[in-house]
Amino acid sequence: MEINLEGLLPEEKKELERNVLTTTLEQVKGWARSNSLWPLTFGLACCAIEMMGTGGSHYDLDRFGVMFRASPRQADLMIVAGTVTKKMGPLLRRLYDQMPEPKWVIAMGSCATAGGPYVKSYSVVKGVDQIVPVDVYIPGCPPNPAALIYGINKLQEKIRYEAKTGRRVTHQ
Ligand code: SF4
Repeated sequence: MEINLEGLLPEEKKELERNVLTTTLEQVKGWARSNSLWPLTFGLACCAIEMMGTGGSHYDLDRFGVMFRASPRQADLMIVAGTVTKKMGPLLRRLYDQMPEPKWVIAMGSCATAGGPYVKSYSVVKGVDQIVPVDVYIPGCPPNPAALIYGINKLQEKIRYEAKTGRRVTHQ
């Protein structure tokens, strides 16, 4: 946003440019939300081990404001880490519905993205986007912690973009 600086003295202009920042409330909210993501602990299979490793002291997800929560009521991000079976599907959806808005979903690994090695199994959902809308897909079997951090960073960019434009893009 531009400020009209006409009619001001040069030193006043300089002072304003140095000390005043203008933005919109939505953009501030987007910035704050993107830097305080609270994921629901949702480990379903081997990918969950990598997710837990990412939360440990070596990779230190806390530095991005990401802190895992045990209750869907306190979470705004669901990281689906592992194989989603058809039995688990309705429970995953119920937990998603219990999360307050605004909320986001990351499909971590090839199982959550498209069924992975179990793509021919009768009991596995071929992608969690058949159950909940997905914001970011992370490929790999399993993706390593660096890949998960990259995916979270992409989600943060997306949240800020959504706040700026008012447009939400998900896949289902
Ligand atoms: S994508 Fe690979 S590592 Fe991840 S849950 Fe599926 S089989 Fe396990």
